[in-house]
Amino acid sequence: MGVDLPSRARVVIVGGGVIGCSVAYHLTKFGWSDVVLLERKQLTSGTTWHAAGLVGQLRQSINMTQLARYTGELYRGLEAETGQATGYRQCGSLSVATTAGRMEELKRNASMAKVFGLKVDVVGPAEIRALYPLADVDDVIGGIHIPSDGYANAVDITQALANGARSRGAQIIQDLKVTAIRHDRGRVTGVDTPQGRIDADTVVLCGGMWTRDLAASIGVTVPLHACEHYYVLFQDVPGLHPGMPVLRDYDHCSYFKYDAGKLLVGAFEPHARPWGMDGIPEDFSFGEIAGDFGHFEPVLLDAMRRVPALQHAGIQKFFCGPESFTPDVRYHLGESAEIKGCFVAAGLNSIGLQSAGGIGKVVSEWIRDGHPPVDLWEVDIRRNMPFQINRKYLRARVAESLGLLYATHWPFRQYESARGVRKSAVHDRLAAAGACFGEAFGWERPNWYAPPGTLPHYEYSYGRQNWFEHSAREHRAVREAAGLFDQSSFAKFRLEGADAVRVLNRVCANEVDVAVGRIVYTQWLNERGGIEADLTVTRLTPTAYLIVTGAETEIKDFNWLQRQIEPSAHCVLTNVTSAMGVLSLMGPRSRDLLQSLTPDDLSQRAFPFATSRVIELGYALVRASRITYVGELGWELYIPTEFMQGVYDELVAAGAGHGLVLAGYHALNSLRIEKGYRHWGHDITDEDTPLEAGLGFAVKLDKPGGFIGREALLRQQQSGLRKRLLQFKLESAEPLLYHNEPIWAGRDIVGFIRSGMYGHSLGAAVGLGYVSAPGGALVDTLDLMQYDIEVAGVRHRAMASLRPMFDPKNERIRGA
Ligand SMILES: Cc1cc2nc3c(=O)[nH]c(=O)nc-3n(C[C@H](O)[C@H](O)[C@H](O)COP(=O)(O)OP(=O)(O)OC[C@H]3O[C@@H](n4cnc5c(N)ncnc54)[C@H](O)[C@@H]3O)c2cc1C
Repeated sequence: MGVDLPSRARVVIVGGGVIGCSVAYHLTKFGWSDVVLLERKQLTSGTTWHAAGLVGQLRQSINMTQLARYTGELYRGLEAETGQATGYRQCGSLSVATTAGRMEELKRNASMAKVFGLKVDVVGPAEIRALYPLADVDDVIGGIHIPSDGYANAVDITQALANGARSRGAQIIQDLKVTAIRHDRGRVTGVDTPQGRIDADTVVLCGGMWTRDLAASIGVTVPLHACEHYYVLFQDVPGLHPGMPVLRDYDHCSYFKYDAGKLLVGAFEPHARPWGMDGIPEDFSFGEIAGDFGHFEPVLLDAMRRVPALQHAGIQKFFCGPESFTPDVRYHLGESAEIKGCFVAAGLNSIGLQSAGGIGKVVSEWIRDGHPPVDLWEVDIRRNMPFQINRKYLRARVAESLGLLYATHWPFRQYESARGVRKSAVHDRLAAAGACFGEAFGWERPNWYAPPGTLPHYEYSYGRQNWFEHSAREHRAVREAAGLFDQSSFAKFRLEGADAVRVLNRVCANEVDVAVGRIVYTQWLNERGGIEADLTVTRLTPTAYLIVTGAETEIKDFNWLQRQIEPSAHCVLTNVTSAMGVLSLMGPRSRDLLQSLTPDDLSQRAFPFATSRVIELGYALVRASRITYVGELGWELYIPTEFMQGVYDELVAAGAGHGLVLAGYHALNSLRIEKGYRHWGHDITDEDTPLEAGLGFAVKLDKPGGFIGREALLRQQQSGLRKRLLQFKLESAEPLLYHNEPIWAGRDIVGFIRSGMYGHSLGAAVGLGYVSAPGGALVDTLDLMQYDIEVAGVRHRAMASLRPMFDPKNERIRGA
């Protein structure tokens, strides 16, 4: 039967699960009635219909918790607003710990929750027993109780969101599949359906596990893969009642939830079973999977020990359904890098119901305003690398992803699956030298080196892990002699052509019309003055630049610059990441070491800081750039990939006489935080301006032609700063900082730690974090206040500084 299909809509949403309906609900909330949602079957018929219904609020980061928290608030009032029952009940939740590590994780999360006032109570076994009499707590150390958590019926929530959207004018059309996404010259133009096409400026892909293939059909990267996901419904469980909290037993991979007179027991087992390898069946609708009871059984047996009443209860239903999981267990949001106007909200990793409200809100604000309303980098679709839609990779990784939801989120925890994807040209040499690799965006990067006789593997804890002293040794060697870092994972672009300087100067906040051979440290800003990228730009010739940025932002930064090149401009941007490896030689003896290998003059006079030049090194010609991310004299060496091994061998051989050590990313991180160097994505984001971040020195407000974001910075200069990045050092040498720890000034929480590490030269944990100026105080004096930083519920006195505590005058970098 034909439907009344509009020929045009402002926004077309593909998919009528809880996510698509929430996007429609929120778009219409701010008056956009010209919204069409297309669902191939019935609303909720994909994954949503079988969600267990947990609506928790505490996630692993501040922003994700805020999204989940908004969801809870929305659901609380949805029934009254739409007239559709939602089954929402604020029963609270209880998470228990049976190991010291887990307890520390829960306590750290409880501290993080204080940053935005979410009430989380740390409780002991007696309180847990009182709150959940059905649980056996003999092995439980403690836990956390969140009174405002709850549960809801996913189908009813989705219908309520759909009703809300319809009542404000959205058109929701079922049994109509989007067969193709239309686009023209890099812009989305609409969708095709069997009933005809709809033109649209914006298309939002909310197709759940179908999204990867639909997106791939237009070259958009959405890495996700379905996995089997299990629960069991027990009936006749004595003592059950609707008001009992949701119980999570992370250490035994299970959760327990009251479900219409039954107890639902769900699993997040460590080795999940990927599903739908040959594509999702076309007729899949309200579908179940046969599943494998044997696979679920170990979790079930543990669950029966946790809630002994289950041993005598009957299994009413064994359920297995598909849900999509992503390589880093974070969902995908936002406008794709590849096609303008093509938005994505998919890959929900089994938290779709509890995230849908927040996702609908931020995605629709992003569509309306053209930018995300808050820093959403951790879930931004542009963080993904094209290779990540490789199905072999996805199958291997998502089998691990599902279990990571409930695994202990140890600091520095590494993925175990789908490893060895991207390797530097000297990878095998580094492995032979004892490198313990971490995975980042597919790259294998040495995080630390195991000395002879020790194994390069992690022993996780919240305290000092097994590599702490090895990394400290690398750190000190860089400060005292020389260290060699393999930073080949840097993303590298070339911008070339007659208009390169003009285009780049508009994008960079610093002046890049500089002499050939100069390196410029700069930020790229958005119109609001927020930092979109933090990188170096080297002028290679009058018409060519080398742009070097972090591995994680390869796609985002390339795309950001690409979009600023108007079609008539004479310049070409090329991603040359794979063409060059990078070895960074850093430390006070780096000059002597490097000079012993090259006839070129490396003296301070001939080769000053922030300059770059091609030098002879061994048998190769390499680009040596005198710059540093660790606060020492040093050079980043940009080496054509096939010359990497030869150059590496020469450096290491010569290094023996100069105290050279191989150093990893953990040392890089402790060195840079000591020196107060910011890291994009943590310390600086699209929400923070260079003035707030203390990077005003890299901004040329008066350069001819201006730059994107200048006017916002001028306005901010006029109105004054409301927050400012400070460096902190704990007074006690014992506690460790990672991230998200609340910063206290007296009785108020005034900020939180964005990134932290142990500062081996400063002798205590150091961190960077923004502090808001209370009651109109001047930010310039913020460092004079007294601060405490809360770690796992305990406050520790901290010193604060506006300038880096390590080498504030940059004397070591100059290395005269
Ligand atoms: C066993 C289990 C328990 C869970 N428990 C919870 C829980 O307790 N709490 C929680 O928060 N989450 C839970 N989840 C996860 C939650 O169900 C999902 O994250 C959520 O439903 C995902 O919603 P979605 O809208 O992204 O996907 P879906 O619900 O799959 O919706 C996508 C829709 O897009 C449609 N579609 C796809 N392609 C097209 C096309 N080309 N044209 C038109 N339409 C298309 C599909 O038909 C589908 O209806 C659970 C999941 C499982 C499997």
